[in-house]
Amino acid sequence: MPLIPSSQPGPARVWAARVQARAATCAGWLGEALYPSHCGLCLEPGPAICAGCQTDLPPLERPCPTCALPLPVAGVCPACVRRPPVLDALHAGWAYAWPLDQLILAYKHGASVRAERILAALAQEVAERRLHQGPDRPDLVIPVPLHGRRLRERGFNQSDELARRVARVMGTSLEVHGLRRVRATESQQALGRKARRRNVSGAFAWDGPDLDGWHVLVVDDVATTGATLEALAGVLRRAGAARVEGLVLARA
Ligand SMILES: [Zn+2]
Ligand SMILES: [Zn+2]
Repeated sequence: MPLIPSSQPGPARVWAARVQARAATCAGWLGEALYPSHCGLCLEPGPAICAGCQTDLPPLERPCPTCALPLPVAGVCPACVRRPPVLDALHAGWAYAWPLDQLILAYKHGASVRAERILAALAQEVAERRLHQGPDRPDLVIPVPLHGRRLRERGFNQSDELARRVARVMGTSLEVHGLRRVRATESQQALGRKARRRNVSGAFAWDGPDLDGWHVLVVDDVATTGATLEALAGVLRRAGAARVEGLVLARA
C-alpha cells in the first residue's frame, strides 16, 4: 500500500477522510492485537522503528542551536547572529528528507497509523535527547495549532499526538487548547523567507493560563525556516513566558 494517498482531502472528501482515519485506527488496534509489534519501515519484530532504520534516517549536520539550520562548522548561523531569534532554542531530530518526509506526509494527509507510531517514537527520541542536554525541563508542552478550517478538513492535528508523547517523556503538562491559530495562513512551502514571516505574523493568539516566568516547549512535525515557531515564540513571550524552545522531528 503506498504511503502517500493519490489526492489530499478536499472539502467534499472530509467525511470520507474521517471515516478512513477512524477505520485506519481500528485496523491499527486489530493489527496490534493479531500480530506482535514490528518496525514500521523494515517489518523486523520489535519497536515502532528499529535501531537500524533509525540510524538510516537523514542526519542533520551541525544544526544551529537557535534555528536548527545545518552548518558546515558547529556554531550559530550568520542569520541568527545578525538577528537573534525570539525562540531560545530549536531541537530538530533529522533532516526533512526520505523516508522521514514521506512518513510525515503519510501521517498528515493520509492519517497513516503506521506512520503515526513511527513518528511518535521519533518524537520521544528527540525529547530524550533534549533531556540529556540539561536538567531544566519545560513547565508546559504545546503543539503548534491548525486553523479551525484545516482541522475540520483533516480531522486531527498531527502535532497533538507528537506533543502528547513529548510531554509524557518529559513528565510535563500538555496544553492543547491555549494556543489558537486565529487567521488561516497559506502553506509556507511555496513562500520565500520574508513572505513566510509576513504570512504567520498575527496568525496566533494565546488564550491559556498566565505564563508568568514559565519555560514553554512548542512541538511541531517540521520546521522550514522556523518562521511559524518564531511567531509563536513572540506570542508566548508576550503572554509572560520566560523561555520558549521548539521541538520538531525534521528541519527542512
Ligand atoms: Zn527497521
Ligand atoms: Zn540559526
